[in-house]
Amino acid sequence: MKAAVMRGERRIEIEDVPTPEPGPDQVLIKIKYSGLCGSDVHRFQYGMAEPGSIMGHEFCGEVAVVGANVTAWKEGDRVIGGGGTPLDGVTRPTSGPRYSARTVGFKTPGWGGFAEYAVMDAWRPLRIPDKVSWETAVLAEPCAIAVHAVRRSRFRVGDRAVVLGAGPIGLLVQQVLQAGGARAVYVSEPAPARAEAARSLGATEVLDPLSRDVVARVLELTDGLGAPVAFDCAAAKPTLQQGLEMVCRGGEVTVVSMAWEDVPLLTVEWIGREVEMKASYGSTPEDWQIVLGLMEQGKINSGPMVGQDSFIGFGDMQSTLSRLITPSDQIQSVLVP
Ligand SMILES: [Zn+2]
Repeated sequence: MKAAVMRGERRIEIEDVPTPEPGPDQVLIKIKYSGLCGSDVHRFQYGMAEPGSIMGHEFCGEVAVVGANVTAWKEGDRVIGGGGTPLDGVTRPTSGPRYSARTVGFKTPGWGGFAEYAVMDAWRPLRIPDKVSWETAVLAEPCAIAVHAVRRSRFRVGDRAVVLGAGPIGLLVQQVLQAGGARAVYVSEPAPARAEAARSLGATEVLDPLSRDVVARVLELTDGLGAPVAFDCAAAKPTLQQGLEMVCRGGEVTVVSMAWEDVPLLTVEWIGREVEMKASYGSTPEDWQIVLGLMEQGKINSGPMVGQDSFIGFGDMQSTLSRLITPSDQIQSVLVP
């Protein structure tokens, strides 16, 4: 099969590799779509994926081969490649005692989603509800990140919320907040196409941080008090500081995206309001179940996020990952293997 294999810092090669064979308790998935994640871009950019590894952890496809002991799946079932609840006796996969993360399709050698096929333990995939399109299903993993962030936060139904950054994660946090009954969701985003996506997904107001003082505008929109919750989904230089300044007294900023360089913080601007900062990382099987429910109810709209401009072939992988290193107007890139 064809696969995009990491071969070093900023180098991904398209290679013919043996198609993996499922063991008795595994399934082989023929990949339909495989989303490119910001974290894939970082691993590519900083050489953090081991040579020989196949990245890609946001994929969906059809079951192609079922292992001898597997009864839960049959050939042709539509699945999301991940999010399953570990069977009794299987410890939850983590990358180590200090972190919570899944292990398939990340930096270690093995089979990820940037390939024609991937093999998985049979408990790992999730069934795609009939009503849910492939374009929506491919967003399940980032949507689980968004659900995790909103559920970790102190957001309550009826709150006004701010989302900083309208990349895929920001747009999904926005939609989860809306599904959760936000009174208003204000989105800060400088790239016009991303801002437009936030608008078309129903943002109450989209603020351009390059042309206006976004902190002042959020204060204006919230009776001078600030919003109770903000989500940093950008990890741009100024966004964490802006989030901390935008929240009300005792408000909370949930940090969803990772900054890979120093971000400046001026504590005098927010410490007097006793704000809180919380990190959100990864997702749990429970979050994925919530995602399936939201998708089935039509609460997650992939239309403005995954469209014809999103799809790329193997031949575009090197150039697309290279291009995504610098901030872009692109929303979600999806490999069609
Ligand atoms: Zn991801």
